Amino acid sequence: MLDAAKMSKLLENKAEVIVFDVIDSTNTEAKRMASALAEKTALSPALILAREQTSGRGRVGRQFLSRADSGIYMSLVYFTDRTLEDAVSVTTAAAAIVAEELEIAANRPMRIKWVNDIYNEDGKVSGILVETVNLSSSSRAIIVGIGINTGKRDFPAELQGIAASVGFLDGKEETLVANIATRLLSHAATPEDRAYMTEYRKRFMLVGERVNLLSCGDVIGEGTVMGVDDDGGLLFLPDGESRVTTVRSGEISLRIKK
Ligand code: ATP
Repeated sequence: MLDAAKMSKLLENKAEVIVFDVIDSTNTEAKRMASALAEKTALSPALILAREQTSGRGRVGRQFLSRADSGIYMSLVYFTDRTLEDAVSVTTAAAAIVAEELEIAANRPMRIKWVNDIYNEDGKVSGILVETVNLSSSSRAIIVGIGINTGKRDFPAELQGIAASVGFLDGKEETLVANIATRLLSHAATPEDRAYMTEYRKRFMLVGERVNLLSCGDVIGEGTVMGVDDDGGLLFLPDGESRVTTVRSGEISLRIKK
């Protein structure tokens, strides 16, 4: 069980820490709590964690398996009056931050699959889901949900060959969580700073790969990945064309062609 007091201390009280034993989803809870938190804590951030999620979520209604004591399930909520474009950079910044901090905690290299899945050499070790809640015409809550597989490596059949674990972190979990949250809050203060893109690109695993672009499970494009732009857009060269196009994440996924 993650130690809330230890995390508060490491976070130097920059965010209220709330730890649940079991919850449906820390992002869903963050959404439920957003308005109340905004009033109660005078717009100061909160960090919601759970030992287990019964309905952990990925993008577009997909599930993120979140078994008890087999991962870190966290959602950082903070409040902003900035524009939606800034919120978009959060997704990319979060991937760069989680990858870097996981490398330190697990002492193994991490790679990033566009737009924000984190892989080690065995498979996907972390998923990130950024959501927003409009509180008024000028104020929004940004929720950065992060699931990290830790400990055991025995995934159910449907995730074999997909999911992987960073292994046992031997008491480094609280430091990992606090470092990630602290860096996300720094990013929130200066979202126009794109320095994190250097770390993102260093770990970006798709340059030169032939991929399919998918929307709702349907292939909508085939081509080659050329890179990512500073806003996290995928630079994509469609087969048979000579001009690179930029794909924004939205509901688009990509799959590497075998
Ligand atoms: P993309 O982000 O490119 O659209 P994705 O399939 O990885 O692709 P996400 O929404 O990020 O989609 O994550 C959900 C998917 O992750 C699930 O459909 C499943 O394949 C996989 N998954 C579910 N639980 C876990 C887990 N604990 N660890 C790793 N992968 C998982």
